[in-house]
Amino acid sequence: MSALNTFKTLKLDRVGRDFGAMNALKDLSLDVKRGEFIALLGPSGCGKSTALNCIAGLLPTTRGSIWLDDKRIDTLGPEDRGFGMVFQNYALFPHMSVRDNVGFGLRMRGVAREEAAKRIDAALATVRLSNQAQKLPGQMSGGQQQRVAIARAIAIEPPLVLMDEPLSNLDAKLRLEMRQEIRRIHAGLGSITLYVTHDQDEALSLADRIVVLRDGEIRQIGTPEELYQRPATLDVAEFMGFRNRLPGDIVGTMGDTVSLNVGGETLDGSARENLAGGTAVAAIRPEDLQAGEHGFPAVVDICEYRGHAFFGAAKGPGGSEVFFRSASRMNPGEQVRLAADPARVLVFNEAAA
Ligand code: ADP
Ligand code: MG
Repeated sequence: MSALNTFKTLKLDRVGRDFGAMNALKDLSLDVKRGEFIALLGPSGCGKSTALNCIAGLLPTTRGSIWLDDKRIDTLGPEDRGFGMVFQNYALFPHMSVRDNVGFGLRMRGVAREEAAKRIDAALATVRLSNQAQKLPGQMSGGQQQRVAIARAIAIEPPLVLMDEPLSNLDAKLRLEMRQEIRRIHAGLGSITLYVTHDQDEALSLADRIVVLRDGEIRQIGTPEELYQRPATLDVAEFMGFRNRLPGDIVGTMGDTVSLNVGGETLDGSARENLAGGTAVAAIRPEDLQAGEHGFPAVVDICEYRGHAFFGAAKGPGGSEVFFRSASRMNPGEQVRLAADPARVLVFNEAAA
């Protein structure tokens, strides 16, 4: 087992990566404790893969440093870091058996035959594929192939497991099953998992902490609960499902409670940052914006049944599109009023253009 394996913290200190004039990563700083499961969450192109590849050593960094405890590792080659990687497309060798695929990293490292056999058996058992060892990847389902890729990554007993959208190629049901599997494997390893995804549900269900990236920058770091309930900025809120953004004039504040005039009606919310101007934006989840007798007026566009409730879209104040929930079916063209619990209305400064 490599000396790196006994570390306590992974530290990124102002890590940057440029592609030509483009700053794909800007000053990424992050401390991760052994045992943590971290999700890097953000839209496509925000720098998630770049960050992961810099940590793995597959891409050189442009600035900053990466540490395992007091050992600087960004100067080491990828082999010497020895991290386990799992990619979206599995990247298995098609002509090699499952067993040989899983043993590949061990052979490359010159691990003795008997020891290698033991580790391969253990890795296959961990991903529950012990009885499929002789198959070729092409004879397996997508989910099984991804489990082989995970087994290959953990067979080398890596200090870090890095996963880049590993479930994106799987169907919805398999994705759910594999999430549980990945969480279970992580717990068994006791090391750090860094997991890249653009899927907020995946990040919320898997991670101990989520790092939200946007345009190469960390926008917020927090537990799933913190991010879900208290996003710090308007863009993080939008990414976490606060699909409604209603601009309004600030007509009163009391502590963190802010009253906005939205389309002539008062909408109360909770300020999430210091509000600078005379106007602000209220962010509300569709399930928290309820159709009824109170609130601001809107005209229904569509309304659909989703089993536990009806969900709809309507034209709100100033013609903006708003998404709401209703206990009963509403018809297109119908006038409604929409209201939300002030604790679930988050008020931010207007987004910078
Ligand atoms: P994500 O994984 O979040 O979708 P990436 O890390 O792949 O994003 O990319 C971040 C940004 O860096 C994107 O704008 C992308 O076009 C750019 N980029 C990534 N790799 C390269 C490269 N090898 N050369 C030039 N630009 C790149
Ligand atoms: Mg990517």
